[in-house]
Amino acid sequence: MPLLPESIIDKAFIAGQWRGAERRFAVTNPATGEVLAEVPDLDADDARDAVAAADTAWPTWRRQTAKQRASLLRRWFESIMANQEALARLMTLEQGKPLGESRGEVAYGASFVEYYAEEAKRMAGETLPSHGADKRILVFREPIGVVAAITPWNFPLAMITRKCAPALAAGCPVVIKPAEATPLTALALAWLAEDAGFPAGVLNVVTASRPAEIGQVLTTDPRVRKVSFTGSTPVGKRLLAQCAGTVKKASMELGGNAPFIVFDDADLDAAVEGAIASKYRNSGQTCVCTNRLLVQAGVYDAFLDKLASRVTQMKVGNGLEDGVVQGPLINRAAVDKVQAHIDDALAHGGRLVCGGKPHALGGTFFEPTVIAGVTSRMRVATEETFGPLAPVFRFDSDEQAIEMANATEFGLAAYFYARDYRRIWRVMEGLEYGMVAVNEGILSTELAPFGGVKESGLGREGSHHGLDEFTELKYVCVGGL
Ligand code: NAD
Repeated sequence: MPLLPESIIDKAFIAGQWRGAERRFAVTNPATGEVLAEVPDLDADDARDAVAAADTAWPTWRRQTAKQRASLLRRWFESIMANQEALARLMTLEQGKPLGESRGEVAYGASFVEYYAEEAKRMAGETLPSHGADKRILVFREPIGVVAAITPWNFPLAMITRKCAPALAAGCPVVIKPAEATPLTALALAWLAEDAGFPAGVLNVVTASRPAEIGQVLTTDPRVRKVSFTGSTPVGKRLLAQCAGTVKKASMELGGNAPFIVFDDADLDAAVEGAIASKYRNSGQTCVCTNRLLVQAGVYDAFLDKLASRVTQMKVGNGLEDGVVQGPLINRAAVDKVQAHIDDALAHGGRLVCGGKPHALGGTFFEPTVIAGVTSRMRVATEETFGPLAPVFRFDSDEQAIEMANATEFGLAAYFYARDYRRIWRVMEGLEYGMVAVNEGILSTELAPFGGVKESGLGREGSHHGLDEFTELKYVCVGGL
């Protein structure tokens, strides 16, 4: 196994100790079905132990100077990057994405650790004009307390660092509950964090195959002060409701239904490249993935031809092989959902342009697919497909494009390609989304606030705004001066 030593491969990480368990669950390679490892299947008691460890570590961790926390984060960043290749291989083995994308994710995930190592030193409070000559108003920014991070399988590394780096920088210890499909990357990150010198209990990883049991503890234990979740909207809603009992602060990075709009003045070649990156990256299993392509009538046929000729050249296969740009889907359920969306679209009058079925390689490999003539009556209009299906809708006016783009309960990312600057401003302002990419197919960076509106979530990750999610403001009124 790349990176993880044999002695800890079957253990979770709690209170600075590598903890085994009698009950374990298998982690499999989605490209081959091979069992990679068996990790501890921890329960509610273990989750409470992890919370206790974090709670014990908190008073000391928050009192470390910003510079001490920053230098530990910096060491963690350097060690992640020094092990980029091994981490990337591990991720491709357990998640399936092509090795090039895994390398990119390691660098992207590490960039949050680097950024918050720097930002830790800038967590300033403020003084405000006061309401009396003998009074002063001071505002302190304090760490919120123990953080629970529940993360998905589609970005096994970056979704962890995007939460943990700002939490640790702010002075909060974390309990990580990684997705059951991809716990090995989380354990490797913990191993590197231990090596970087984080004190015991500051970073804990609870692996489990029954997430609801762990989630129940993390959302109801009063010692946990913040839950940061990335995953599906239904699970996010449930966790949010569970957090209400102890009024925990919560961040929710949830599902999307991203529109990708191509206007008739767009650079079509650039739009096709953007669409390929945004739609098929990670086999279409990305929350900001294009879910709907909306193309203006005047360029509809030309765009479709160019898109189809690019998509039919895409090489599908094991992510470890050279030249592969699309790996397997994560599991059988993911394949079934993509197929159901295709069947539904075709049954309602859609036209299959390319792909459309499981790949000849078998397993969970699926053909990159394009469907034309898609309308709002089809499931793909309202549901997140989370797979390599590009449904292409047609529109006439700018107003219609904006209306179609906004006709969803989601509001994570939106993309559009156009040249006219007045149109660019109008559309940018009209889109009800947390993130908008103009003439770009990829927008995530540690330097910008990532997050959604409507049912795509609450809160932001990345940039200086990301730190706010893990701090509380304390107002102190000093009187009698
Ligand atoms: P999921 O909601 O099934 O699982 C996410 C995490 O929640 C996993 O760790 C899982 O074990 C855990 N979980 C599941 N049920 C739980 C429960 N009852 N209590 C506590 N924890 C529970 O989502 P997924 O299938 O892993 O990920 C795909 C979804 O994540 C998609 O909808 C995608 O759009 C979304 N996503 C969003 C972002 C974002 O930043 N907005 C990023 C990546 C993925």
